[in-house]
Amino acid sequence: MSKLHDARLKVRAELEVPAALRRFGSGWISGVLGVVLGIAGLLLVISLRAPGLLAMPESQPLRDNPWYRIGLHVILLGAFATSALSLVLRKERTLGTCGVAVTLLAAMIGGSHATAVVAGRPPMFLGLDFFVLNVLFTGFLFIPLERFFSHKEEQHIFREEWREDLFYYLVSSLLVQMLTFLTFVPAKTILAWVPMPDVRAWVGALPFVVQFVAIMFLTDLVQYWVHRAFHRLPWLWKFHAVHHSARSLDWMAGARMHFLEILALRSMTVIPMYVLGFSLTAMNAYILLVYIYSTFVHANLNWRFPVVEKFLVTPRFHHWHHGIEKEAVDVNFAIHFPLLDRLFGTYHLPKDKWPAGYGLEGHPVPLGYWAQFKYPFQRTPKTPPTSN
Ligand SMILES: [Zn+2]
Ligand SMILES: [Zn+2]
Repeated sequence: MSKLHDARLKVRAELEVPAALRRFGSGWISGVLGVVLGIAGLLLVISLRAPGLLAMPESQPLRDNPWYRIGLHVILLGAFATSALSLVLRKERTLGTCGVAVTLLAAMIGGSHATAVVAGRPPMFLGLDFFVLNVLFTGFLFIPLERFFSHKEEQHIFREEWREDLFYYLVSSLLVQMLTFLTFVPAKTILAWVPMPDVRAWVGALPFVVQFVAIMFLTDLVQYWVHRAFHRLPWLWKFHAVHHSARSLDWMAGARMHFLEILALRSMTVIPMYVLGFSLTAMNAYILLVYIYSTFVHANLNWRFPVVEKFLVTPRFHHWHHGIEKEAVDVNFAIHFPLLDRLFGTYHLPKDKWPAGYGLEGHPVPLGYWAQFKYPFQRTPKTPPTSN
């Protein structure tokens, strides 16, 4: 066990090495790719072994598609090839060895030909496949963008607290079934009390673009006030402080949100979308947008969008929301339309300026997922934070 622990520490140390040891040709990039693809492949193979328990029923058509297994095969081959390349290029062999080991383990338990060993579908499942696809898709989309267009160029991919933020991804992906079910409970309850068939028929028949923009606006309006309440009410603030405790912003940072805040925020914001009868196509298109958009606004991207940023929330706008300085306190609550902050007096976007840093003054939130989960329920003798 201690050998496994030591190996884990060595892998972590290698992932977090300083820039001089990560340069192109050093075998670091291939080593990281080998480890990431190897672990991703291994987890996907495990989800194929117990699809009823560890894969989403919604991804069944994907798993039935022959390209899914071809894709998994490519991931495993890629993991092996990049790990081998790292072993050739790099003197320190930890990443290469780890990549080869997890890829071989994935192959030994069935690889891309893995069949289910656990039959049937119990009522509860964990979205292990969702976690892998989620991180691979978002990571491969945003990491290259953050490398080429970084706002903070010195920020490492494996920056401080990256493991904590990845763990937030893991928990909300694994518990996707519970989150989705609970998210819709308030909206379904309201709809049962106030069915409004005429309004729903009218809204559902509107052109797609109108529905899509209307969903964006109504969701953002609700989100604005729920978000503002999370800042203003001390007992709610302790939940939201977890999100604001991130000292580095990038594609992973947005995932850091207290589980109960995710539930509260999602269940409130879906109410207008669900109750007013928007079409399923418009709702699904919006869910895809907000999935990418919420990652985008936290990303370490220097894109300026001089005209666009007046009308749509950009990374710089939301980075100001996370700013550690006094001028960033309680500003920029909107997630799509800065207009809402202009209307309600909370707009703050100084020309050409970015916040000096991120997080909370005095950093009152403890480190680690479980400590942060318990944080809102604990008494803190300290005065409330002065920064949001
Ligand atoms: Zn906030
Ligand atoms: Zn945020």
